[in-house]
Parts: sequence; structure tokens; C-alpha cells
Amino acid sequence: MSQKPNNYSSAIYKEPGPVLDKESPFESMMERFRFASNILDLDEGMFQYLSNPVKTVIVSIPIIMDNGNIRVFEGYRVIHDNVLGPSKGGIRYTPNVTLDEVKALAAWMTWKCAVVNVPFGGAKGAIRCNPKELSLRELEQITRRYTAEMIEVIGPDRDIPAPDMNTNEQIMAWIMDTYSMHARRTENAVVTGKPVILGGSRGRKEATGRGVVTVTLETLNKLGIMANKCRVVIQGFGNVGSVTARLLYERGARIVGISDVTGGYYHPDGINIDNALMHVQQNGGTLAGFEGAEMITNEALLELDCDVLVPAALQDQINKHNARNIKAKAIVEGANGPITANADAILDEMGIMIIPDILANAGGVTVSYFEWVQDRHGYFWTEDRVNRRLNRMMRDAFQLLYQVKEKYDITLRQAAYVYAIQKVSDTLRLRGIYA
Ligand code: NAD
Repeated sequence: MSQKPNNYSSAIYKEPGPVLDKESPFESMMERFRFASNILDLDEGMFQYLSNPVKTVIVSIPIIMDNGNIRVFEGYRVIHDNVLGPSKGGIRYTPNVTLDEVKALAAWMTWKCAVVNVPFGGAKGAIRCNPKELSLRELEQITRRYTAEMIEVIGPDRDIPAPDMNTNEQIMAWIMDTYSMHARRTENAVVTGKPVILGGSRGRKEATGRGVVTVTLETLNKLGIMANKCRVVIQGFGNVGSVTARLLYERGARIVGISDVTGGYYHPDGINIDNALMHVQQNGGTLAGFEGAEMITNEALLELDCDVLVPAALQDQINKHNARNIKAKAIVEGANGPITANADAILDEMGIMIIPDILANAGGVTVSYFEWVQDRHGYFWTEDRVNRRLNRMMRDAFQLLYQVKEKYDITLRQAAYVYAIQKVSDTLRLRGIYA
């Protein structure tokens, strides 16, 4: 059976909640979820099941601040789904976070884990706070109290947090320690993204960028372009962007454009990435003042002529306003939600191949899964073993989704959602609904 995407687009489902902007990453995700549900002819009950989180927990976190006053913060943990296994997802500390945002991000994790065949459901957590205004002691107190309040929610067999915006290895170490104190034993599998010395995995820091590179190489293969002949533009030079740049550079790719919050940097013959990395290391973590390339704006960077564009910075970067100016042959989404649903349709029309975020940046959650496996075995792998297994899982996921794409004659993004939703709903049908 081969049908055109438009045949699926007349949604039979009611919009859950208000009709939101298709330029927002969360509504974009819901739009894609609805589309895939229609392709699969998912029944209304299953659609409702997968639209709603299985558990939403809100806690108050009272803390004695450094000045002696009590302040109460709000914390969330949303488990979207745990059909495939314990749920998994980061915890973010941001001042404006909302419960709706956390719910959408939790659903996103369900689809991401399913796509790479990691046996986890999806979850997300957050504390509404501004870490920049908190001392280290206050941050630790907030983290420990949040963990204590969530003691019946999280756990190595239940729900496994990880770092996200403004949370890091140290915060994961505090969560692990607090949980372990309550459990009366060391339980390092309760969180991932820990320091290696506490049971973290080798290769975790580079995993997302490494996964981006694996799927980029698969994409180049499909496009018939040799890695050492391709021209790449990367937006963002942080964890994901810089690792992607370095590994592709090592394979002989010409990295013609890179950027960070200080602007874009362009060289038609290719930028020396070793020099760029050294510059960032020696200059306060940014590319400001880098002389190995011409400076351009971040807007112009996205529109450079190249084979592969890797947005690895922020959401909503390619939208209805600039999509028509994109000249890349393929876009690999290193960031979460860098292309809006409106832009998706335009890029598809232009014949640009998109490797969706839930596949492209799933290397991070894949190595988080490896970390959990290693913690539970108490046996730790070499970095080489981590990288080999990561590459294999990313390659397999790419090939699998490519088959789904061809079967239904849809985009790779639509294929990712179709595959994920099918996997979760098939599993749920077999397990049945407990009552
Ligand atoms: P990071 O903070 O290490 O790096 C972000 C980079 O983007 C920095 O170089 C920053 O200067 C740059 N940037 C910020 N604003 C910019 C702008 N307006 N234009 C161009 N560049 C800008 O973050 P990261 O961990 O590399 O994450 C990047 C993206 O990848 C995020 O969307 C994140 O959610 C996603 N992601 C990260 C991981 C991971 O394991 N780190 C996993 C999955 C998805």
C-alpha cells in the first residue's frame, strides 16, 4: 500500500484542548501525532490513551534560603507512558516552566524511546526556579527535597530522571544520593547522566553528537554523497553542535558554517574545527573573535548553500518565514523542535530530506539506557563498546524508519511517529488495560 501524505491529513480526531499555533514545538508535535494516528487508523480510545499522561505529580518544595526566609518552589513530574518499560526523561530547572510544557515534553520522550527501540516509556520533570539566582546550597536543598517528595514516583524500575535545561551531573549525583539514603542502599540506576565515578557511562557526554553523525552518514548514503565530499553547516557549537562538527570534520567533511549565540562563522573552503574548538576553550566558551572564518548573521547561516544543515541550538529556528530560503539537501535535527510543522510542509515540497529530532538526537537517551543497564549489572563498559553499540542502534533505527517511510510514502518524520505510535499501541493492546 502506498498513499500520499495528504490522504491522511483529514484528522478524524478532535483537537485536545485549544487549537494552538503550529509554529510552537509542542503543537507541532501534537500535529504530527494526530497525522500518524490517522495513518494507523488508530481508534479514538487508543488516541485518547496516548494523548494523556498516565501520571502527573505536582509538589511543593519548601526551602530555607540563605537569608533565613522560607521560600516554596513548585515541582512537577509527568509520566506520559510506561507501556514499554520504566519511564525516562530529564528534569529542567527554569523560571517559566508550565505543566503543559512538561506534559508535551514527556510525550516527546515516549516517541523518542520507541523510535530507537530503547525499552523505556516517556517522562519529564521540572522545578519552577531560576538557578542563576540560587546559591549552590539552595540548589542542593531544592534538588534533595524534590527527590524526597518524588520518592514513590521515581526509581530504577519505575521512572528514571536525567539532566535537561539547567541541570547537570552534580544535580543527578544529589538525586542519586537522596534516593539511596531513603532506600538504605546505593541505587545508582535511579538517574542517568551521573558523573562516571558514580556509575555514569563513558561516552554519555558525546552521545547525542555521535548519534547525529551516525544518522548524517546514513542520510549522505541515501543521497549518494560521500562524507569527505559533503559541505555541512551547523547551528550551535555547544555539546551537540561541537561534537557533531568535530566528528564530521574527522571524516573529511567540509564544515562551511558554524555558529553560536555570538553569531555565524562562514568559510567556503571549510573551517578548521580543531582551531574553532581550541578558540572556544581558550575564550570563555564562545566563538566570539574566532578569526578562521568570515562573520555572518545566524539567520544567514541557516540559508547557506550546503549538503547538510544541522540545527543544534534552539527550537523553532526554521519556520514559515525562512523555510523557502533553505538551500541544504538534508536537515538533521540535532536540537529538539528546530523546524516548525508549517516549515515541515514547505521543506517537504522543496524536496529537502529531514531527519527528525526524535531519531537524530536520540543518541543521548540511548546511552542513558546503556548507563542504566551498566548500573544494574554493576559492570561498566569501555567507551569503545558504548560507541559501537550506540552506532548500531542509531543505524538500525534509521534503516527501520526508512522502510516505514517507503512503505507509506511519507516523510521520515511522519515515519518516526507512525513507527513509535504503532509500537506503543501494539504493546498496549497485548498488555491490555488493567482495571
Ligand atoms: P548547549 O547549551 O551545550 O549548546 C547550545 C549552543 O547553541 C551554544 O553554542 C549556544 O551558544 C548556541 N546558541 C544559543 N542561542 C543561539 C542562537 N540564537 N543562534 C545560534 N546558536 C545559539 O546545548 P546542547 O546540549 O548542545 O543542546 C542543543 C540542543 O540539542 C537543544 O535543543 C537540546 O534540547 C538538544 N538536545 C541535547 C541533548 C544533549 O544530550 N545535550 C540531547 C537531545 C537534544
